Amino acid sequence: MATPRTLEPVQLRRVDVGGPFWATRLEVNRRRTIPAIHRQLVETGRLDAYRLHDGRGDGPTPHLFWDSDVAKWIEAAAYTLAKQPDPALQAMVRDAVERLASIQQPDGYLNVYFTTVAPSKRWTNLGMWHELYCAGHLIEAGVALYEATGDRSLLDVVARYADHIDATFGPGRRAGCCGHPEIELALVKLYRATHERRYLALSQFFLDQRGRRPSIFEEELGQLPPEDAELNLRYLTRDGRYDPTYCQDHLPVRDQSEAVGHAVRAMYLAAGMADVGLETGDAALVAAARRIWESATGRKMYVTGGLGSRRDIEGFGPAYELPDEDAYAETCAAIGLVLLSHRLFHAHPHGRYVDVLERALYNGVLAGVSLDGERFFYENPLASSGHHHRQPWYEVACCPPNLARLLASLGQYAYSEGPQAAFVHLYVGGKADLVCGDVRVTLHQQTDYPWDGRVRLTVVPEKPVTLTLYLRVPGWCPAWSISVNGEPLADASRAAAQAHGVPGYVALDRFWRPGDTVELTLAMPVQRLYGHPRSRDLVGRVALQRGPLVYCLEEHDNGPGLDRIVLPMGAPIESRFDEALLGGVVVLSAEASELQETDWEGGLYRTSPPALHRRPIVAIPYFAWDNRSPGEMRVWLRDRS
Ligand SMILES: [Zn+2]
Repeated sequence: MATPRTLEPVQLRRVDVGGPFWATRLEVNRRRTIPAIHRQLVETGRLDAYRLHDGRGDGPTPHLFWDSDVAKWIEAAAYTLAKQPDPALQAMVRDAVERLASIQQPDGYLNVYFTTVAPSKRWTNLGMWHELYCAGHLIEAGVALYEATGDRSLLDVVARYADHIDATFGPGRRAGCCGHPEIELALVKLYRATHERRYLALSQFFLDQRGRRPSIFEEELGQLPPEDAELNLRYLTRDGRYDPTYCQDHLPVRDQSEAVGHAVRAMYLAAGMADVGLETGDAALVAAARRIWESATGRKMYVTGGLGSRRDIEGFGPAYELPDEDAYAETCAAIGLVLLSHRLFHAHPHGRYVDVLERALYNGVLAGVSLDGERFFYENPLASSGHHHRQPWYEVACCPPNLARLLASLGQYAYSEGPQAAFVHLYVGGKADLVCGDVRVTLHQQTDYPWDGRVRLTVVPEKPVTLTLYLRVPGWCPAWSISVNGEPLADASRAAAQAHGVPGYVALDRFWRPGDTVELTLAMPVQRLYGHPRSRDLVGRVALQRGPLVYCLEEHDNGPGLDRIVLPMGAPIESRFDEALLGGVVVLSAEASELQETDWEGGLYRTSPPALHRRPIVAIPYFAWDNRSPGEMRVWLRDRS
């Protein structure tokens, strides 16, 4: 088994995603979503804001985190440019980078709000003003553009900014960290791109600021003038006292175990902890990140991979609190769960992390964008009365560009490489060039996943090589089979492949010759899912899943009154691919029942239960909801055993 230090994700530029499902979505992301977000950056004044300082600009006053919207768009564009030249997009990126660079101050500082609106208030409200968060996204954009295209222009700018931050914060300098984690994981990326260890040390410093007593955020609140403390009072205090949980300041990071507070912050913080722990060998940091992941996924995660049951804090409630129609489940939080799960896999290889990553990706994340790529969800409830719809943009616009950058970088989540080891995590089709020790190995992947569980891999090492090929068997999959060069694996080989030490993967340990083929077949039945009995929101409910996809009912197919539908135990459920529906999806159909109200006369209560009448139902993948006529939607149905 590869060790954490030697197992690495295969970089995006060496991966082509080519299966029909993802090729379509990545093309929509490139041709529709990324241009649509750019239009919004123009129309809302986010790009012109960089011209305000010299009198050439026009438009509304910048907001605190506009830099992060522009940065995430650049990052998304960079990933697509890594895969496909696009002169028009490249020109838009160059223009955005020039605008950003034009406001960099002589000392390296770079933030449009604190340069053009409130220059005297730099670094005065770390708890709620997102200054280091914006810096983190700028850094991620600079690294992405450099790694994807070799263009150092933004990397050099953000490295100067990071140097300024490093000169400002750290041991013997200022204490403090950002209320919204992000700079931590960004500095690790900058360290990996530049090999400058100060950035890694600064990331660790920021992590270690959390949970100190007296709290840095509480002390800061005490020093803020009242006119600057509005957000802090709203989010960082409860009943007049400092509440450290909202921004994960309740304990030093190595002592943290529970997913609390704002869900995106919690995921980004834990991702940064895993990054620093992996780089420095700090096992306690990784272990704490893993406990936070276990708390989130074991007791607080929606079946869609969404996180956050509480709207008031955009975050976690108590364990097992999972209301469906009132779910917050911000798109960014599901993205954060993808980021964290991916890092934890590389710390402790185990299929459970990729199972969660895949659940979040195909459901909680993918629902965040319409099929046409131009409308977005911020909140992702699991039921709707018909009034929740995607929007072209949001005033707080974190989700659309975050989603665009995740989809554009999907390839980097699909494979990992190590000495004599190749991992296939996601069945996305296409091709990947792996470096396994000193041998380059190309993997060709053909599949119609997630609609079909058959995957064909062709292994092409540059020379014959002994190598372990790890293929993920998703946790939802009840049965699988494998053939190598057309020969089904014998029982003894099956047992050996399963007992290889990475749970959730089958390992094919053999001498590979160019052109060897592997056919993996994952059984993909329709499955009923039930929630933990401690969740009052889920008791008596059932959800449908097929492969990695969670399903839902929509009024468009089923008429109104979805809450009255009951799915009897044992009712057969059919699945079929409908290429004319929603761009081509597998739909589920079943004979269900509906609570009758037609014979209900004479009041609110009676002594006999409502009658049931049989009726057909049709379910579609959750990610595809709200793409037709507006109406009700429901994931969790009533269960009748
Ligand atoms: Zn968001």
